[in-house]
Amino acid sequence: TTIAVLRERASGEHRVAATPETVKKFIGLGAAVRVEAGAGMSASISDEAYQAAGAEIVASGVAAGADIVLGVQGPEVDLLAGANPGAWVVAGLDPFGKRERVDAYAAGGYEALAMEFMPRITRAQSMDILSSQSNLAGYKAVIVAADIYGRAFPMMMTAAGTVSAAKVFVMGVGVAGLQAIATARRLGGQVSATDVRSATKEQIQSLGAKPIFVENVAGIEGEGAGGYATEMSPEYQAAQAELVSSHIAKQDIVITTALIPGRPAPRLITDAQIATMKPGSVIFDLAVSAGGNVEGSVADQVVEKHGVKIVGYSNTATHLAADASALFSRNLFNFLSAFWDKEAGKPVLDEEIGNAIRLTQGGKVVNERLLG
Ligand code: NAD
Repeated sequence: TTIAVLRERASGEHRVAATPETVKKFIGLGAAVRVEAGAGMSASISDEAYQAAGAEIVASGVAAGADIVLGVQGPEVDLLAGANPGAWVVAGLDPFGKRERVDAYAAGGYEALAMEFMPRITRAQSMDILSSQSNLAGYKAVIVAADIYGRAFPMMMTAAGTVSAAKVFVMGVGVAGLQAIATARRLGGQVSATDVRSATKEQIQSLGAKPIFVENVAGIEGEGAGGYATEMSPEYQAAQAELVSSHIAKQDIVITTALIPGRPAPRLITDAQIATMKPGSVIFDLAVSAGGNVEGSVADQVVEKHGVKIVGYSNTATHLAADASALFSRNLFNFLSAFWDKEAGKPVLDEEIGNAIRLTQGGKVVNERLLG
């Protein structure tokens, strides 16, 4: 089995889908690994480091003869030229956003495997790119917000007087939100958080933050399939907006992380609510590329509204390229190695995971979530 590792082409993408560590492990399974020259450069990994791990560095046509092509984001189909018939394309393929590219994978006879469709089951946790990248994103959002904020996070008692602690509010307590809470706490912020899934209440408390929750409203349980959030009832949304309004006016930093798979991100903060915040406050919208939780947020820009700075990166994890690559690469290795069939000398998927992540096969789009 030959595995090809692409240099990412998307603008602002600094990650890479394999590291010398995972290259070595793939070779240990009996695979040959070809890495496109410069693939690891912006994640601080040199071609020499890949070579030392046993990879062949290829200047162009890296996919030639490959059975498996690894990417962080999905490659354009012309980059797959020369790959073996039925070759696997394993990456974050953005299946809803890049639907035409998925069709092109089918037409090319490739088997496209969307890593973001990995089911949320215990045995797949170590293969989950959404978790590993969200975790880093939650951290980075707080660091960036703290940098832009013109005041300090911790309470400081100085000879010249006391600096008060920043009040930080985290909206959406999934993987990113939990890391944002932990990071803001480590920096000395006074942290509160909210979510539509009531199971998060205890998690918020266990991190030493204060839960802010809508109580006694119909449709309060927002947990749907696979532990993901669902869209909430109009009554719930109204109650949530009211609660958030009164709380948000007192916050210095707000981090929003709310996502609903396959749908636009829910709007959590309106312009009118931003107007009630103190000048100098900072909002980081981690959902900005899914349409945004915050009215007026623009990807990769600092927008100022009513004296409040609103930030959001289209790709937050890429700003921690080295760590993000290390975790992403391990996710891919954990996935492929878990299914490695020693006799066949290649991975063979089972139905549960195969059906969840496989987008194309035999020239057709086969994934239920794309067909339904
Ligand atoms: P996500 O990125 O899909 O969404 C972020 C958070 O926003 C979620 O907690 C969601 O409930 C919340 N949200 C959605 N709409 C909201 C609204 N209107 N107001 C406030 N909050 C809202 O979520 P995620 O980080 O992927 O995690 C979702 C769940 O899946 C968590 O319980 C997580 O622990 C679990 N999970 C399990 C596995 C696994 O078992 N393999 C892997 C990853 C995550």
